[in-house]
Amino acid sequence: MYIISSKNMLLKAQKGGYAVPAFNIHNLETMQVVVETAAEMRSPLILAGTPGTYSYAGTGNVVAIARDLAKQWDLPLAVHLDHHEVLDDIRQKVQAGIRSVMIDGSHAPFEENVELVRRVVELSHRYDASVEAELGRLGGVEDDLVVDEEDALYTNPEQAREFVLRTGIDSLAVAIGTAHGLYHHDPKLDFDRLAAIRERVDVPLVLHGASGLPESDIRKAISLGVCKVNVATELKIAFSDALKHYLQDNPKANDPRHYMQPAKAAMKEVVQKVIHVCGCEGQL
Ligand SMILES: [Zn+2]
Repeated sequence: MYIISSKNMLLKAQKGGYAVPAFNIHNLETMQVVVETAAEMRSPLILAGTPGTYSYAGTGNVVAIARDLAKQWDLPLAVHLDHHEVLDDIRQKVQAGIRSVMIDGSHAPFEENVELVRRVVELSHRYDASVEAELGRLGGVEDDLVVDEEDALYTNPEQAREFVLRTGIDSLAVAIGTAHGLYHHDPKLDFDRLAAIRERVDVPLVLHGASGLPESDIRKAISLGVCKVNVATELKIAFSDALKHYLQDNPKANDPRHYMQPAKAAMKEVVQKVIHVCGCEGQL
């Protein structure tokens, strides 16, 4: 089995004091880049897609490509549902072979969030799929979801303890001052809050919105219990900027086998950098 749950890789990261990167992918090329780079660096890997990504690329296509790449590189990997919100949608994707789920009920009131997550855990664990859930709310833009920075809510540590106990989740995404998308001003992470959550919660913690964070912040968050680091925007920018430059310099280019190469190379550099910062190189 090459498509695995992220449960054991995150528990291993927790013991080892490093983090596993979750890279958002969108198509064949982006999947090739992350799998090839992680395999070369002997790093565990999570391939993440939002609901928008799965509808764009097709869930079956994503699973089939991931399975083939995993086999080709001998790299068991987790294909992950990033920010999914609907139980039936999750059920269909788990039945299609995905074994790593994020249920995002963070916009709902606490009791509703607990109930929804509990049901997703019940379903997913029957298939041996791991479940991440979020408490608190990140600002910024993720997929079609826009959260005003003022509406962003930090995770309450006491509530986090109750949330984990009542839902049975395998990992918890925390809101400690990161945002989705790019940062308009320097982010200020609440590390005291992260430490307080860590004291009360024993499952691996997840940091969303790592694109554009200073490396020192990511390392510090990892030292305080973060075991999964999500990177999306930074990859997209590297890929599309390189593609734009290439097409500007080569206006007659029309062969994707050529014009995709510089884009893939630029994205690969970001993947290498993130794997390095996560400390997961050689941790396969
Ligand atoms: Zn996120």
